Amino acid sequence: MKEMENTVVCKFGGSSVASAAQIRKVRKIVETDPKRKVVVVSAPGKSEGDREKLTDHLINIATNGEHFHEQRKTITAEESRKSVVRRFSRIVEQLEIDGSDLLAALQRDLDKPLEGDKRTAFYASRGEHYSAAIVAKFFEKTGLPARTCLPEEIGLRVSSEHLDAKVLPGSHSDVARALGSENGIAIVPGYYGITAENDVAVMSRGGSDLTAGELAFAVDAELYENWTDTSGVYEVDPNLIHEAQVIPRLTFKEIRLLASKGFNVFHFDAMLRCKNSKIPISVRNTNRPEELGTLILNERVPEEGVVGIAKADNMAYIYLSKDGLGEEIGFVAELLTIFREHCINTHHYPTDVDDISVLICQDDLKGHINDLRRAIHKRLKPDVMEVHYNLSILTPVGLGLRGNSYPLVDALTVLGENHIPIEMMNQAPSQVCFHIGVLQAVSDVALRVLHERLLL
Ligand code: ASP
Repeated sequence: MKEMENTVVCKFGGSSVASAAQIRKVRKIVETDPKRKVVVVSAPGKSEGDREKLTDHLINIATNGEHFHEQRKTITAEESRKSVVRRFSRIVEQLEIDGSDLLAALQRDLDKPLEGDKRTAFYASRGEHYSAAIVAKFFEKTGLPARTCLPEEIGLRVSSEHLDAKVLPGSHSDVARALGSENGIAIVPGYYGITAENDVAVMSRGGSDLTAGELAFAVDAELYENWTDTSGVYEVDPNLIHEAQVIPRLTFKEIRLLASKGFNVFHFDAMLRCKNSKIPISVRNTNRPEELGTLILNERVPEEGVVGIAKADNMAYIYLSKDGLGEEIGFVAELLTIFREHCINTHHYPTDVDDISVLICQDDLKGHINDLRRAIHKRLKPDVMEVHYNLSILTPVGLGLRGNSYPLVDALTVLGENHIPIEMMNQAPSQVCFHIGVLQAVSDVALRVLHERLLL
């Protein structure tokens, strides 16, 4: 029986299991720390030979080509099936394991006669399912005791929304017991669980993060390691600013603020699980395991003002002005109701006595803007209504901003010095970030000068 107290739950994302070479790296990482007793794997992600994730191919098979068709890609279900089989066969062959039974089972699974969401969920789950089986076989063959632990074997029960399943709270104790009774390393396929009716149901996309978060919670892990293909969370988007450094330590609050404005980290709900049970998350790079990555914690000492700057593009705002708006009780409530009725999420609301603007993601307005404008006109009768598109919101974040207005002054000064007009300003109520709206056309320059002034 395994001692679960000092367990590190590791999750390896799609790029970490995309090929045999990557899986060899995974093995080395797992081997170097005996605390890494629970390993959650994704389905193979994009690779040199295939621009699509395996999960997308599987969904394409289940939907008879509809999935890629909707994305305007001409990949048929038959082509997807070939890609899936080819990809797994190549990995098996290059790892030099005997995978004939696995490949035969895969073919049978891909013929399983299911309908609707149950079909999509089952097919979509096969990427993680066979990825875990292959990783376990490879570990075993190379002398690292390991066993596949399927959701049905460890009691990972989920709700019956087949394409957006949630782990049922009652299953954590079963999972902890089952994982604790394993002797070797438990290799768990991410992204899916089993419903009360014994169907496979998948979580939302990127759901392997969720599985790992749930398992970390279940075994009260010492640490949740999220292994990806980036070296951690960067101060700013490293694709835009090459000198960007990895942030060594961040709180959950800071990562949430950065992630809501364009930082693509990992599944928010997985973070919540860990946050609530105070389990730190370490974001590491499978391709550079010697680097320490970013540690996400409940608490840290704020040594600096700003830790990172997020940039959200493709934002728009609706500006309204009306004489007497300031005295009209219920105006804002009615405005937000109209947005709700159109299922549009609203982000910021800079207000003054007779004006208000509401910031939204531009994409959310597609197909709605005409009706939305009409409804606002009819129900609120503003004197002025303007819609402004192509805005970027820059958000410097840091616990050290609380009660410290110097970074805000520096930010405004440097934008002024560089003749970058400010379209919107908003300090967050938590005071751990502030938002500056600029035209998207100058947002890269704005990010660069802010990075230089606030972080270098
Ligand atoms: N394979 C699933 C997806 O592509 C889940 C994951 O990778 O976390 O969304």
